[in-house]
Amino acid sequence: MKSYRKELWFEVPNRRGLINITPQVDKCLRESGIKEGLVLVNAMHITASVFINDDESGLHHDYDIWLEKLAPHEPVSQYRHNVGEDNADAHMKRQIMGREVVVAITDGRLDFGTWEQIFYGEFDGRRRKRVLVKIIGE
Ligand code: ZN
Repeated sequence: MKSYRKELWFEVPNRRGLINITPQVDKCLRESGIKEGLVLVNAMHITASVFINDDESGLHHDYDIWLEKLAPHEPVSQYRHNVGEDNADAHMKRQIMGREVVVAITDGRLDFGTWEQIFYGEFDGRRRKRVLVKIIGE
C-alpha cells in the first residue's frame, strides 16, 4: 500500500470565505501516483471546514446568510467563548459545515458524484491556515 501526505496552506483575506480546492487535491492525487484508494481532506483548524458541494456562487452566498442566522458573528458579547476572543461563531460554523471529506479514487481520479467539488470553508480568516491531504491505496 502506498501512502501520501501533504499540507495545503490558505490565507483568506476576510473573516469568512470559500475556496474550491479540488484542483489542489487533484494535483496531490497525481503526485501520489495512487490509482485505487481513498483520499482524506481535513481542515487542521477548529474554525475552518472542508466540505463537498456545488461550485455555484448563489449557493455560496446562501450558505453565508444561513450560517450567519444560525451563529451570527455580532454581537460578539453573546458568546461565553469570546473572553479574550471573538471567534465563537466560527467554531459553530465549522461544526455545521464539517471537518473533513473522504473521496474514493478510481482509475487514478477523484470519483465524484455529479457537480461535487471540494471546498475549504474559512470562518475566522486573515491568517495562514492548513488543510491536510492524506491519500492511501495502490
Ligand atoms: Zn476560539
